[in-house]
Amino acid sequence: GREEVICSGCGVKIQTESKDGLGYTPSSAMERDVIICQRCYRLKHYNEVQDVSLKDDDFLKILNEIGTKEALIVKIVDIFDFDGSWLPGLHRFVGKNKVLLVGNKVDLLPKSVKRQKVIQWMKRTAKEYGLTATDVHLMSAHTGEALMDVANLIDEHRGKKDVYIVGSTNVGKSTFINKLLKEFGAEDEMLITTSNIPGTTLDMIDVPLDDGSNLFDTPGIINHHQMAHLVDKEELKIITPKKEVKPKIFQLTSGQTLFLGGLARVDFNNGEPQSFIVYVSNDLHIHRTKTGKADELYSNHLGELLTPPKKENIAAFPEMTEKEWKIKEGKYDLVFSGLGWVTVSGSGSIVKSYAPKGVTVSVRPSIF
Ligand code: GDP
Repeated sequence: GREEVICSGCGVKIQTESKDGLGYTPSSAMERDVIICQRCYRLKHYNEVQDVSLKDDDFLKILNEIGTKEALIVKIVDIFDFDGSWLPGLHRFVGKNKVLLVGNKVDLLPKSVKRQKVIQWMKRTAKEYGLTATDVHLMSAHTGEALMDVANLIDEHRGKKDVYIVGSTNVGKSTFINKLLKEFGAEDEMLITTSNIPGTTLDMIDVPLDDGSNLFDTPGIINHHQMAHLVDKEELKIITPKKEVKPKIFQLTSGQTLFLGGLARVDFNNGEPQSFIVYVSNDLHIHRTKTGKADELYSNHLGELLTPPKKENIAAFPEMTEKEWKIKEGKYDLVFSGLGWVTVSGSGSIVKSYAPKGVTVSVRPSIF
């Protein structure tokens, strides 16, 4: 058999197949005398962290490790994929430690969205998941908006303790840490290293802080039900908003349906004519039709008119789960985690949501 190659940086087993996995090294780099994994390479040469993803049991080991420490936990979520990017087990390992909950990608929210309402929604939803956050904040790791506020909050809440940054893949953890490193001028002599969790090969990125404490970037976990994992790279590009989301307004009467590509669907079953405002990636095509024709349209035109998913991916696409919602008087958002939301305003409307199995749909008071 083939000999096992070990990274001379962190000791993890080298592999060349899975780009996002632990120990990944491009095949071209296998010819070198000293072989290190891509993550160590970036860290060494660019002082740049790269997120690796873990399987569930590995992730439990990380949580266990954090549970034994006195530390500040900074949990990052993607505000466009709150449920999908949630770490369900975390609260059980928190103990007495403070948790700072940070909603990333705030740059994608339309300016008209009230930031304070988003924060309230995050607090409430976190509580429903069993986590009481010490503080909740919004930022954009990408544009740098409120990044320093978050950095200052971390400093304020940690006292002299270590800091653990946790989050599922894709929430922007690496972007955040790399920006922080640039901001605080990670010089060459400031040695960022990887630090092993005892008894495993799971390594965390260890950034020394000025008082002798450390900031640990923990590997992210893949939540398989995330919309992002149900689509391929090209499709992901279409559904991921790249800049401020432009609301799309539809005046609907009951008996009408909106398709969000082929990924989700909203039926307006009952209620006064009203506007449905769709907040999704500007590149995702919204199709309006009669509810009576919607099933047929879906089975005949999924992968064509209703896309993503692409034609070649529909066989592997999960079936849709439907749920009926009675919307109370006022404005409410029907949230499709990982995709966006549809604001419904009316009195006692009945709507039905359709989303791929596993993708969370929820209703919240509108964030406007
Ligand atoms: P990680 O897996 O948690 O380390 O996430 P990354 O830092 O690799 O980011 C995942 C994706 O989200 C990348 O395409 C980033 O460019 C993007 N991203 C990260 N932060 C932001 C942000 O604040 N705003 C926007 N719009 N995109 C972001």
